Parts: sequence; structure tokens; C-alpha cells
Amino acid sequence: MVLVNENYIKSSDSHYVEDIEKRVNAYKILYPNRKIYRLEAVSPSLPLPQDAIAAMHRAVDDLANENNFYGYAPVQGYDFLIYKILKEYRVNYSLAFEKESVFINSGSTTDLANITNVVSGDSIVAIADTIDPAYENTTVLSGRAGKLKNGKWGNLVYLKCDETTNFLPQLPVERVDVIFLSNPNNVTGTVINRCELKRWVDYALENTSLIIYDASFQAFIKDENVPRSIYEIKGAKKVAIEVRSFSKNAGFAGVRCGFTIVPTDLQAYTVAGKAVPVNRLWKKLVQNYTNGVSYISQRGAEALFTRKSKAEISELVNYYMINAELIREELNSIGCRVFGGKNSPYVWFKIPKGETSWNFFLYLLHNFGIAGMPGIVFGAENDRFMRFSGYCNRTDLIEALKIIKQNSKRDFLK
Ligand SMILES: *Cc1c(COP(=O)(O)O)cnc(C)c1O
Repeated sequence: MVLVNENYIKSSDSHYVEDIEKRVNAYKILYPNRKIYRLEAVSPSLPLPQDAIAAMHRAVDDLANENNFYGYAPVQGYDFLIYKILKEYRVNYSLAFEKESVFINSGSTTDLANITNVVSGDSIVAIADTIDPAYENTTVLSGRAGKLKNGKWGNLVYLKCDETTNFLPQLPVERVDVIFLSNPNNVTGTVINRCELKRWVDYALENTSLIIYDASFQAFIKDENVPRSIYEIKGAKKVAIEVRSFSKNAGFAGVRCGFTIVPTDLQAYTVAGKAVPVNRLWKKLVQNYTNGVSYISQRGAEALFTRKSKAEISELVNYYMINAELIREELNSIGCRVFGGKNSPYVWFKIPKGETSWNFFLYLLHNFGIAGMPGIVFGAENDRFMRFSGYCNRTDLIEALKIIKQNSKRDFLK
């Protein structure tokens, strides 16, 4: 009889995006003619830059032509895209990487999950608490999480990141092997500044730990004191893997393309204490788990580096950031406690006293047609919070905020 990997039974069956969708769909069936304001959105809503669309059309034509045909892509990605990325790091941050450091991925999710395959099964993993559940889930699936007690996994190290720390993760007290850091924090929209990030890099250098730096939202950083790349911090090449995505800034969520930097200087150790370059292990992982990324997606991503695309991406980011600013202003003006939204499209806020976040979600949906993201999906301690997203339509947002304002005294801030 075939036995299952029981880690897959241990981990939760529910996914928050699906949980929201179910409730929104139930509401649509009840009230087919009522408008719904999707302020919980996790996916960008505007079309791709024009050059990327044209490049992907051309890429399809290449595949229709025997003389220009592309089969399997090189396992780390095509040079045409890798060189664009290397140039970006050189120009933006004066950082030089060897070509072998860059791995094109089909969106950052796969690499963030697979990372757990190249480090020992006994590694102690630390995650910020509050953070996207994906890091916790993949640690459970990889068998490193231990037993669940009161909603927390026994072998995971949870780094305090709550209202008392302004949703900034606190350094581990004990030694840990792997640290997932997301900057900006994709749940709360809060950011780690340069000075604080240096403390994380120093911790990793001192403890020979590995930082998995999720920079998927770097394009939204406005504050000069917040680094966009962890490698802006001295010594980070020795301790950090940086994962980026074209999903959230350029609208590539459905195209699927991003990249991971595994610097050639980064080392991990055998039990006997021998240093091994992680880059070499990573290449094996990608070779055996992915077999490369779609030619069409990579051509599309290459076209994101044209001057025209850069201008369009900055307009897209601005659109979502103005939405976030409108949300911030409105919630602030009615007296809500608000976090994020300044360097991130997400605004995280405290809900009225005495409410639970699913109750408040249902209340907003059924009374006003407004969908938000209930905090509890990001951990039980967040049941007093909700998230609104700048990834919504501007006109809808303005209407929704008007409704919130009109009802703020009586209903919203009960
Ligand atoms: C959306 C998101 C991802 C996944 O992005 P893809 O590249 O589309 O897989 C990863 N990390 C964070 C923080 C995200 O918000």
C-alpha cells in the first residue's frame, strides 16, 4: 500500500484566497444585482506594459517558425533576460553579480517553497509572525515544523511582529538557521529600513544563518531609507538569497516570471563543517524540479526593461499607490489605527472593538458590498485587523470609501 507524506496531511487544507472567494460567491448568488467592491484584491488589476505584450506576440511567432524555434530554455534562464537583470543591479545599486548568480523563475512562489530542499531537514526555520502563511505552510510540508500546539508549530521560531512592534519583525533571541524576511511585509505593508536590515544581515553573518529575502514588492518602496535589495547591505552576499517577481509591479501574476539571486559567495555547511556553495546546489534543484521557464514569459519579461516599459510600470505602481494613499487617508480620518500603505499597496488597519475579523468581513460585505481581507487568515492574533488593497479599480474605490465615510459614525467604527 502506498503511504502518503504525512506532512501533507498536517498542513491546513484551506487557502485564504479561496475562503474569501467562497463567501463572495455566496453573496453574489444571494444578491446578483448588488455591486461588490473588491478591496481584498491580491492580484494586480491593470493590463501589462505594451512592449511586453508585443514581445510575447513576437515570441509566439518565433515558435511558429522552424528557423527561429525555441525548445527547452537554458536551465537558469536566457542570457537576454539575465543580462538585463544584472545591468539593473549595476545601475540601480552599483552591485555586480556573476551571471551564474541569477536564476529566472516562473514566479517567486516556486522558489520560495523549494528553498527548503537545499538546506538540511533539521534546519531551524524562523518566520515573522505576522507574515504570509506560505512560508509557514511550505515549512510544514517539508517536515520541519514539528507538532501544532495552540495554532503554532513547535519547531518553528515565530518572530514577534505585531501591533506592539509596529508590525516590524524582531530578531530571534536564539540561534536559527533559515530566516524568511519579506520587505515590504506583504501582509501589513510595513517596511524594514536600512539600519534595521543591517542588524538582520549582521545576525546572519554572526550565526551563519541564511536569509531568504522576499523582495516581491520592492517596486513599491518610496522611502529612501528602505533598501530595495538586501545586497545594498554590506555582507549580504554571504548570507542572503533574494527572490523577486514581476507579478506585483508589472502585472505578470498570470504570465509567471521572476528571478532568484543566489550569490556565488553564499555558503552553507555539511555536518562535518565543510563549506559548500549554495549556488551549486540551487542549480541542481532547478535542473531537477523545473526544467526552465517558458520562452514566451522570458521574452515578455525582457521587454519590461525598455525605457517605455519602465515608465509604464512606474505608472502602474503609482496607480496602486494612490489607491493605497486614498485608503490610508480615509481610514485615518475616521479614526482607525492604520499601518502600511506608504511603501506597499496594502493597508492594514484595526477593526472596531468587539468584532472578529470574519464577522467584520461579513458585516462589510452584506451591508455595503465591500470585501476586505480578514486579519485572522494571517494568524489568530490578527483577528482584530483587516487589510484593504490598492489593487482595486479607482472609481470603485472612491465609491467604497464614500460609503465607509457615510457609515463611519454609526456602523464602521462602532
Ligand atoms: C505575490 C507574492 C509572491 C508570489 O509571487 P509570484 O511571483 O507571482 O509567484 C511572493 N511573495 C510575496 C510577498 C507575494 O506577495
